[in-house]
Amino acid sequence: MKAEIIAVGSELLTPDRVDTNSLFLTAQLNRLGIEVTRKTVVGDELDALHDAFGGAMERVELVISSGGLGPTEDDRTRDAVADLLGRKLKRDPAVMSKIEARFQQLGRPMAEVNARQALVPEGAAVLENPRGTAPGLWLEARGHVVVLLPGPPHELKAMFSAQLEPRLARLSTGVRLLARELRVAGMGESDVDQRIAPIYARHDGVQTTILTAPGEIQVHLRTWSADAPAAERTLQQLQESIVLALGEAVFTTAGESMEEVVARELTLHHATIATAESCTGGLLAERLTRISGSSAYFLGGVVSYSNTLKSAWVDVPAEIIESRGAVSAEVAIALADGIRRRTGATLGVGITGVAGPTGGSPEKPVGTVHVAIADAAGSKERVVRFPGERDRIRWQASQTALDLVRRYFLYAAQPKPFMASGRSEPGTKG
Ligand code: AMP
Ligand code: MG
Repeated sequence: MKAEIIAVGSELLTPDRVDTNSLFLTAQLNRLGIEVTRKTVVGDELDALHDAFGGAMERVELVISSGGLGPTEDDRTRDAVADLLGRKLKRDPAVMSKIEARFQQLGRPMAEVNARQALVPEGAAVLENPRGTAPGLWLEARGHVVVLLPGPPHELKAMFSAQLEPRLARLSTGVRLLARELRVAGMGESDVDQRIAPIYARHDGVQTTILTAPGEIQVHLRTWSADAPAAERTLQQLQESIVLALGEAVFTTAGESMEEVVARELTLHHATIATAESCTGGLLAERLTRISGSSAYFLGGVVSYSNTLKSAWVDVPAEIIESRGAVSAEVAIALADGIRRRTGATLGVGITGVAGPTGGSPEKPVGTVHVAIADAAGSKERVVRFPGERDRIRWQASQTALDLVRRYFLYAAQPKPFMASGRSEPGTKG
């Protein structure tokens, strides 16, 4: 079954308020096997409401709205829909006494306008509102179902679970949405697409979407099916083929964040970590400590922003800073190795770069970041040039550092090629 959502409220057309109800509703409807094919945000004018509901009813069987059921003059959803469906509004005595009881309970006098909320279109079922005065409404007309829900999110959510979900479950046909999500680091969007397009093109029953988030690419696989086990098998097959094509770049198939993946690896290997950051200003340490239980592996970190403190706190030789510059592979490695030695951690991580927007040069333009990881046997360094603004550059730098740690553990069970041998791989220093 397909549905459309209409978010009613002129405030939602200003820069001050955002429609969050439709996100909640979409998640709930998807769970019930109902696909959302369009969302509309519309102001409180009668004409606009007519248009929105009329259009949606031409396209889909189920239309769900939020907002515009309040007591005031600008709450017109009820009137617009009654008018559209040719239903008279009648005062419902049961609703009226509930509203009166609620005011009594709150010890407040009821304003006359509140009586508007007891107006119910003929033939509509009333959805009780345990958290407010405006009841929701369920209308069936011309093979369509139109549901009107109140705008305040906590009222809408409570009403959905208590009143709407059981009714919708009866309507729904057993078709479910099944979804997978893969996250990829260290590759660009077009690169990812190029590698996996030939694979997902073979599965036209699965909708594949590639989304970019800062520092990662997400591959979403979605399919609607009444046969869940068969659909799961298809998704699993597709997922495995994609992982094969993208290799180590896939850091999770379980929707985890990069810091969660790194936390798991550190814990699994009984390893500890310490950080020496410059341009990220502590962001890496902040992300590592987002995870509860991080004290088991995160020993600590420093933000050594000035050259003096790079030497004083993490033992970066002043000559290296002098000869190579603060933003260099050598300094990143010295930061990583210095903090590792100082703290006794299994792994040290160093980050130095130009976050911008000032401070760039032709050799080291804004966005140039050196990230290094060191263990007792050696170090690995990666230089990256990130596009974008300061915040984005800093985030991507922290992501690259976490990804280096993650990749380190991909080899940890076996001899580590770039660590144990003491020799350098291409693109590896130290
Ligand atoms: P209403 O039922 O139109 O009187 O809405 C009451 C309040 O609910 C509004 O002032 C908003 O704060 C909130 N609200 C309405 N629609 C939405 C929406 N789509 N998403 C989030 N909040 C909303
Ligand atoms: Mg409103």
